[in-house]
Parts: sequence; C-alpha cells; structure tokens
Amino acid sequence: MEDDIAKGWRMTQGVTMAEENDCLFCKIAAGQIPSTKVYEDDTVYAFEDINPVSEVHVLVIPKKHYPNAAAVASADPQLFAHIVETAQAIADKRCDGAFHLLFNTGEAAGQTVFHCHAHVLGGKPDAAKLV
Ligand code: ADP
Repeated sequence: MEDDIAKGWRMTQGVTMAEENDCLFCKIAAGQIPSTKVYEDDTVYAFEDINPVSEVHVLVIPKKHYPNAAAVASADPQLFAHIVETAQAIADKRCDGAFHLLFNTGEAAGQTVFHCHAHVLGGKPDAAKLV
C-alpha cells in the first residue's frame, strides 16, 4: 500500500507538468474552464457536479494537483482534513449536515478524472441515474 501511495506522490512530483497542463480539474480550479462555484479559498475549490446524481452533488478539489485522495492524505494531511471540513460546511448549508463523502480511486472503481475530488452527496438521490 505504501508503494501505491508513494507512486501517487511520485506522479504528483514527476509527471506534473504534462499531467497538470492536461488536467480538467486543474483548469476548472484555475478558472480556465467554467464551473458553478460553491466555495473557494487558497487551497480548495468546490463546484457543482455537471451530472448530479442527487439533490446536492458538489465536488471539492485541492487546487494543487494530486491524482487521488490517498496521495493528498500522505503528502499533506492538513489539506486532506480541510477538504473534509469543506465538504461538511457545504452539507451544513445545503442538506442539514447529512451527506455521503465519496472518493472514487482508480479506473476500476469508476474514477474518470485523475485529480483528487470529494463527491459531496446529499438530499434525495436521482433514482434514474443510480440504476
Ligand atoms: P465518475 O464519472 O464515475 O463519477 P469520478 O469519481 O472521477 O468518476 O468523478 C468525476 C466527476 O466529475 C463526475 O461526477 C462528473 O459528472 C464530474 N464532471 C466531469 N466534468 C465536469 C465539469 N466540467 N464540471 C463539473 N463536473 C464535472
């Protein structure tokens, strides 16, 4: 497991330039691609998911590029905690503080964008999209 985390870290340290230049969520965080902003500060950006699967479906991302949640947690635990706190603050405002927090990790688990993102899911699920 440590090797995998280290690999993620090497990816953020080594492949970064090409990867970040090509990364959809890096471009969203930088304002180069439009999104519906929910929250922003120096280190995180939160925006509405373009294809919501529940009443509340917000993505919280670190502004710095990391490929997945474990890579953030191992490189910068404070940043990881801040992502979780931001998710909670959004849920407090939008769905009485009750929510699912999901980090898809790896292609086989459904990850399609390889920039760490927390799905904040609250309210009623969209049944049509869950089947
Ligand atoms: P999955 O697509 O299986 O949910 P991920 O966990 O990698 O895989 O999530 C990527 C999420 O990013 C999806 O929920 C998708 O709807 C969302 N998304 C993709 N492009 C955009 C965009 N331009 N603006 C907002 N959300 C986006």
